[in-house]
Amino acid sequence: MFPWSRRSDAAPQADSAPRAPGDLRGQVCVVSGSTSGIGLALARAAASHGADVVLNGLGDPAEIERTRAELEASCGVRVRYHAADMARGDEVADMVAFARHQLGRLDILVNNAGIQHVEAVETFPSDKWEKILAINLSSVFYATRAAIPIMKAQGRGRIINVASAHGLVASPFKSAYVAAKHGVLGFTKTVALEVARDNITCNAICPGYVETPLVKQQIADQARTRGISKDKVVEDVMLAAQPTKKFVTTEELAGLFLYLVSDLGASANGASFSIDGGWTAQ
Ligand code: NAD
Repeated sequence: MFPWSRRSDAAPQADSAPRAPGDLRGQVCVVSGSTSGIGLALARAAASHGADVVLNGLGDPAEIERTRAELEASCGVRVRYHAADMARGDEVADMVAFARHQLGRLDILVNNAGIQHVEAVETFPSDKWEKILAINLSSVFYATRAAIPIMKAQGRGRIINVASAHGLVASPFKSAYVAAKHGVLGFTKTVALEVARDNITCNAICPGYVETPLVKQQIADQARTRGISKDKVVEDVMLAAQPTKKFVTTEELAGLFLYLVSDLGASANGASFSIDGGWTAQ
């Protein structure tokens, strides 16, 4: 738990009353792509601060069930899993409806699922392009479209889109990913304007490199594409742009997440928050 966000032991307040930062009791949070990496870290942050959580993502069913049960037991909240494929709009919308149906409401939507493929544009496979656009961009639309009516009816909502430094700047060989993440930032701003009077905010988090399974895979892919060692990829390619020369941690992302979902984050709307060690300051 973050020291500045320690939740009080007082009884949960009515929905309309201001809450202490970090008090997510009684709230319901859906995190797409939360079976690993950043999504799992944000789901854990939400659960450890009292929110009921819907997990989503790919993986071995037994392992996912272990994660779900562990989160539920260690945080004392309800945790459900929905297996929606983020490449399918109908399943994405069903995941949002499931949260409301199973847990009674929906307060926080984290659009986090994402995939990557690293290849020069002239040989970039069409199916990879379509899949990256579907999972990294269109799923954000489908989930948000389904969530807003629920949030409006409740009088409050928080939508957080996990974009990337690649929503702001490009790197070679990542055309689909960069296009999708730039699209996420445009979508975030548009939604923010549409819901600004409804006590709903929509923001994007733009991490630099975080060492998760997605990045470990990229290290291997880049080493192959560029014909250099994995160590060289980390040193000269990945963290070349990250002035701190350190991977961003999921705890640092969770800190921003807890701010954005709190009442203190009410005026942060339509923004993209860089947590990239200074990468996009250059
Ligand atoms: P990860 O591979 O660890 O996790 C990705 C999650 O998405 C997993 O739970 C996976 O099962 C899920 N997923 C993938 N395809 C899916 C599908 N079709 N349907 C449902 N779920 C699916 O990756 P991560 O690094 O934690 O990335 C999470 C998000 O953060 C992505 O949007 C990524 O673009 C973004 N991001 C990551 C980094 C980084 O350095 N790791 C940096 C910037 C942005």
